[in-house]
Parts: sequence; structure tokens; C-alpha cells
Amino acid sequence: MSEPPSTPTPTGGTPEPPAPTPPPVPTTKRGKPKKPKVQRKGFGTYAFTAIVVIAVAVAGWQIAKSLTASDEPKVGDHIHAALGITVCGLPVENAPEFENQDGTETKAGLHSHGDGLLHIHPFTEEESGDSATVGRFMDYGGWEADEDHLRLWDGLEVSSGDPCPDGRTARVRWSLNGEEQDGNPSDYKPEDQDVISIAFLPDGDPIPEPPADVLAALPKPADTQQG
Ligand SMILES: [Zn+2]
Ligand SMILES: [Zn+2]
Repeated sequence: MSEPPSTPTPTGGTPEPPAPTPPPVPTTKRGKPKKPKVQRKGFGTYAFTAIVVIAVAVAGWQIAKSLTASDEPKVGDHIHAALGITVCGLPVENAPEFENQDGTETKAGLHSHGDGLLHIHPFTEEESGDSATVGRFMDYGGWEADEDHLRLWDGLEVSSGDPCPDGRTARVRWSLNGEEQDGNPSDYKPEDQDVISIAFLPDGDPIPEPPADVLAALPKPADTQQG
């Protein structure tokens, strides 16, 4: 009885080596679990890496955005920009004084003291940073100034394509610190001491500067001590 069980070891020396080949068994064991494991690990690692890379990219993008977009002017800041508007070369009266958002009792952080300046001192986050635009000033005042249309105080309203008194077709154009700009002036977020000119004017005519008294007031606004 003892011999049969141990039979494998004895005589069959020559043929047996190939038969018992242990490799297949280990291979199967190792192979099966290993392959899936390796693949899963690899997959998981790649997925994880991808997520990390994406997260880092998003974080970087947000940082870059926050750096370039900036949250200025912040609540409590107080900056000024000159705003001159001309129609067919003639100056429009300074924006009338207003302290509240049009049609409300809510204080407007962008407002006019009737001196031709945009007074910008945001009271809330909502009107600070990138929201402190020319368009918000206009909206608070109850007016509009976009890339092809002006609707201002005193019922003054013009649209690109309308003629000037001399018969020439005009359109809304605008300049910033003496340089003509493209696009919608309302999208612009003024910086302190900016000089903004919005003009309804034929192409080719130079965009007039804001009035001299407005430019003179810009560096020392009357309200800088009151806030
Ligand atoms: Zn001011
Ligand atoms: Zn003010």
C-alpha cells in the first residue's frame, strides 16, 4: 500500500518529469490572479493619475482665472473713471446724479454724482469684481450702452446705422484711454483713473475725449473724502 501512493516518484523517472510539470499549476494560479490584478492596478492608477491631473489643471485654471479676473474692485474700494459720451461729435450732458439702483431704494455701488465720473464703490459682492462694469452703471441709472445702441438720459436714443445730421451713417464706437476698442463698452470693467469715451460717430472720425472739466475732476473727485 505504501508503494502505490509513492508510485509517482519511482520508476517512471523519465516520463514523469514532463507529466508533473508544476509550472502549469503555479502559472495558472499566479497568472489568473496576477493578470487581472495587474490590469486593475494599472487601470486604477491611470484613472487616479488622470483625476489628479484634471484636478490640478482645474485648480490651476481657477487660480489663473482668479489672478487675471481679479475680484477688484472689492466691497469698500472706491475708484473712479471718466465717462464722456458724444453723439455725432457733440457732447452729451454728464450722466445725471443717481444714488439708487433704477426703480429701487437699493443703494447703487456704481453711481453718478453728475460730475461725468463713474463712481465705483461696491456695497455688495454682487456688484464687485468683474460685475462692476460700465453696463452695470448704465443699468443702475436706467440706461443702456451696448455695441450698436445707446439709450441715455433725456430720451436720447440712437442705433448703429442711423444717420447724423450731416447725413453720414454713424455707429456706436468707444475708446479707452485714447485707444479705440472693439465690442461692447458695457462689458468693460473700469479701472481707477480710466478715461472712457463712448461715441455715436461715423467711421473714420476721431472719438472725442470727455469734457476738460471731467478730465480735471478725475484725479481728485469731490467725494473722495466722503466715500
Ligand atoms: Zn466717488
Ligand atoms: Zn459716491
